Amino acid sequence: MTDYPAARTADDFRTNLAAVRARIDAAAEGAGRDPGEVRLLPVSKTVESDRLRNAVAAGCDWFGENKVQEVKRKHAELEDTGVKWAVIGHLQTNKAKDVAAIADEFQALDSLRVAEALDRRLQMLGRGIDVYVQVNTSGEESKFGLHPDDLAGFLTELPAFSSLRVRGLMTLAALSSDAERVRRCFRLLRDLRDRARDRDPDLVGPGELSMGMSGDYEVAIAEGSTCVRVGQAIFGARATPDSHYWPG
Ligand SMILES: *Cc1c(COP(=O)(O)O)cnc(C)c1O
Repeated sequence: MTDYPAARTADDFRTNLAAVRARIDAAAEGAGRDPGEVRLLPVSKTVESDRLRNAVAAGCDWFGENKVQEVKRKHAELEDTGVKWAVIGHLQTNKAKDVAAIADEFQALDSLRVAEALDRRLQMLGRGIDVYVQVNTSGEESKFGLHPDDLAGFLTELPAFSSLRVRGLMTLAALSSDAERVRRCFRLLRDLRDRARDRDPDLVGPGELSMGMSGDYEVAIAEGSTCVRVGQAIFGARATPDSHYWPG
């Protein structure tokens, strides 16, 4: 396993961020891509606000969070910093109100019920947010997201929700040490994006691909990722098992 050094001070964060960014840039160049096309979204789940303040001082202006309760608390604690929040975990309709109020981006849209609830709350607040549609590319039951076969129909319904600005697609690859299996998940997401675009260029907005995490972001970039969601390689290893975030 890769070992992920913990970061506490702003200097620690500068070091880790620069190291991850250098690997992102190298992966993009290796794939013949412009590194400027790949956004780094730091995933701050389980990391407390005092440390996040140091990450902001080191230049982070966005954080990704998986759970609504946690992002709600941190949003209040860090409001003075102006940092923006991306919700990247499955949402229940009864939490749509909170996400509408505090998130600038929602990356895990996977049902029309959630689209409807979120859009209604956003309309009430007079604001809009960027959304990514989550697709289950691994076939693992523990992963949220639409079945690939349901994506095209789903995308055609989204223009009805005018406060949701569709940016593209998001996925979690199989948690596997088999690099080819992981790569197939990313390739599938890209193919789905390309096919949707061929059908109608407006269906997936600018067609962003949010894919890749600490353990697999270089493969994701080789397959076309435009947003990597990286937690442990920036903040240090997480004690909480991932099953807490992706319940089976
Ligand atoms: C936790 C999480 C990540 C980041 O995982 P790391 O291993 O910390 O890089 C990315 N995406 C989602 C949806 C997550 O929940």
